[in-house]
Amino acid sequence: MSDTSSLFGDPKDILFLDGSILSPGYIPKRLIARDEQIKKVANLFAPVLSLNPPHNSIIYGKTGTGKTVVVKYVYSKLHEEIEKNKVKTNIKNILVNCQRFNTSVKAIVSILNKIDLEYNVPAHGLSLNDYYAKLYNLLNKKNLSIIVILDEIDQLKDQDILYGLSRASENQDIDVGIFIGIVGITNDTNFAETLDPRIISSLRKFDIVFPPYDADQLNLILRDRAIAFKEGVLTNSVIPLCSAYSAQEHGDARKAINLLRLSGEIAQNKRAKKITQEHVKIANDQQNIDCMVEVIKTLPTQSMIVLRSISELSKEMKEKFSTGQVLSRYYVLCEDTSCKKLSRTRISQLISELEMLGIINTRLKTTGGHGKTRLISLNIPKDKVETILYS
Ligand code: ADP
Ligand code: MG
Repeated sequence: MSDTSSLFGDPKDILFLDGSILSPGYIPKRLIARDEQIKKVANLFAPVLSLNPPHNSIIYGKTGTGKTVVVKYVYSKLHEEIEKNKVKTNIKNILVNCQRFNTSVKAIVSILNKIDLEYNVPAHGLSLNDYYAKLYNLLNKKNLSIIVILDEIDQLKDQDILYGLSRASENQDIDVGIFIGIVGITNDTNFAETLDPRIISSLRKFDIVFPPYDADQLNLILRDRAIAFKEGVLTNSVIPLCSAYSAQEHGDARKAINLLRLSGEIAQNKRAKKITQEHVKIANDQQNIDCMVEVIKTLPTQSMIVLRSISELSKEMKEKFSTGQVLSRYYVLCEDTSCKKLSRTRISQLISELEMLGIINTRLKTTGGHGKTRLISLNIPKDKVETILYS
């Protein structure tokens, strides 16, 4: 390439001033519409200031309702308060992402490593009790209290850690004056039903619920992030449209912020001088497709084969096709891949499930004298589906 200026683009085309303001890790200066939840989380931690143990809690709410950011925010305020009042406590908060550390052993190893970067603990091979013993020894040695925040707690394959940590004081595993607080965070409103009654009684937890945001609240959240862009590049309708789309979904602030960022990137790639409604619409379609792609990746094998049949037929046919055609293709693919063949009724159910997930569309058509048949089409670009199915 001879013209190197086009390699890096023209700085004048950049619409972002500070893109990190729209990144997941950014903690905003103020939190919108969360006063009640902030107060409740503060009440959990407040006893720490008088050298008492914090309360345990499970926090419920859909994704993007501000659970993680509120807990981090309140925790940082607690620390400011501890320093300001010179409270004689040695306390650390430890955030464990249970999607990544999804067993009690993995979670405890992660806690040990976060307390002491140099702590050399084998990642496996010891019994669960040995891991607990190591943790309690370390806390006693360092005279350290911890608040363990188990984020995405529903992803834990075993819940022993809740029982173990909540009983450490009572069992005198940790010295008097040291404590372990537990805050579980979950997107699953039915999580409590999966908890053993023994764990519930041992946790003595407070429940806190985070409701979804409405369009007005999302609007305020996004307005505070407008500083991510250079002055004058956001047209007036952009933020309200991002809020409206995201409120329709389920009031998810993460999605709303992501949509705003994506709209900016699309406008920038098109070398537009301003971000407009059109860019938001394109970004929204793209975001919906990305979401669907994630859903497809987790489909069970049989649904994958049905989807593969539908994807192949959409490539070959100009018109929409029937359940019968999907079924014949499905049988061919089962032969090819030596998979068990399911019944027509079961395949029909799997097709309905794919429709409920929004991956395909179906339309009922009356056929001459024979009743009704479903006409099927893909709801996402063919090449997207293909790349996932054959990757
Ligand atoms: P959750 O943990 O419930 O899935 P997060 O706490 O990760 O949600 O929030 C998702 C994103 O939305 C983060 O970028 C966060 O900063 C932002 N956010 C959430 N709630 C608010 C709020 N009330 N005010 C400002 N930003 C918010
Ligand atoms: Mg979270």
